[in-house]
Amino acid sequence: MSTPYGHAAWSTELPAYVYDLAGLDAHVATVREALDGVELYYAVKANPDPELLRVLAPYVDGFEVSSGGELAHVRELFPDAPVALGGPGKTDAELFADVTRLHVESPSELRRLLASGRPADVLLRANLDLPIGGASLVMGGGATPFGMDPADIAECMDLLERQDAVRLRGLHAHLASGLDAPRLLELAADVLDFARRLGFTEVNLGGGMAVSYADPEEIFDWHAYGKGLAGLRRPGEVLRVEPGRSLTVYCGRYVTQVIDVKRVHGELFAVVAGGTHHLRTPATKGHDQPLAGGEPGEPITIVGQLCTPKDVLARGVPVRLEVGDVVEFAMAGAYAWNISHHDFLMHPKPGFHYIRGA
Ligand SMILES: *Cc1c(COP(=O)(O)O)cnc(C)c1O
Repeated sequence: MSTPYGHAAWSTELPAYVYDLAGLDAHVATVREALDGVELYYAVKANPDPELLRVLAPYVDGFEVSSGGELAHVRELFPDAPVALGGPGKTDAELFADVTRLHVESPSELRRLLASGRPADVLLRANLDLPIGGASLVMGGGATPFGMDPADIAECMDLLERQDAVRLRGLHAHLASGLDAPRLLELAADVLDFARRLGFTEVNLGGGMAVSYADPEEIFDWHAYGKGLAGLRRPGEVLRVEPGRSLTVYCGRYVTQVIDVKRVHGELFAVVAGGTHHLRTPATKGHDQPLAGGEPGEPITIVGQLCTPKDVLARGVPVRLEVGDVVEFAMAGAYAWNISHHDFLMHPKPGFHYIRGA
């Protein structure tokens, strides 16, 4: 395995997150090029690490934030960057924040905004009745707390007609995560149909571009998606997407070391330093976190140091592991460290390292 730490020595620096900033730069450059003519916002909740945001900033048209905390974070780093604020359950501070676009989630949210008398540029977030098969997370097309039924969209449009402080800019629809390019394009066509019937010319199609933890080489087809969107877009229309995971997932690795190897009831386990309190992704998504490298061997289950059977990073992986070996988990750049329960069991925090050169 190639790691900045090598194999042999027991390292007090592990576990650590290692971010390949050069790789991220190259990846987002490709995405940017593929999405010619479509606005690209980064969904900060996927990974708000300032080092990553600085790499992304020159390529994106803005940042999508889901809380006042994320908004303050982005504003501090990039005071002039366009920001779209969305998400259910906005506090007054969030609802009344000065942002480029506010994504309204319900008629009552809009009433609170209107009652404040404050100006805002809003997109109405729709939860359309569209069939969404094959997604890993579904936010629309059924009963969820995200977005509004078409009837509530109509109610919001009525409310907005009788005033001019709040400007209705268009429609927002982030319907699902984990869809491939053909499926996302089908949804985009349906969302655009809906938006055009209501007279909208600005549409945010959301994020949710698929990544594969089972096969890290299987990358979302940005080229096909960009071409497809270019074909759907009519003159005068502004289309925007706001991916998170598919931009940053590949640039992060969680590197750790085997503390113990044991066989229990016939099954082989490697206990590594750290665990799902650093890298919660496999526990929350129910997958095996892919390994980068490794010698073939008897299937082994890789667990962390937590006293819970849920602390499993990968099950039955055919690699040979011995005490002291360095283990590298790939695809740990999004919804990884920042969604993990860091303080559970009070183990030390991981280190953070950034690779800048190619
Ligand atoms: C989480 C989220 C995204 C990003 O989703 P990914 O699956 O990470 O691409 C985009 N828009 C909204 C509204 C979200 O909640």
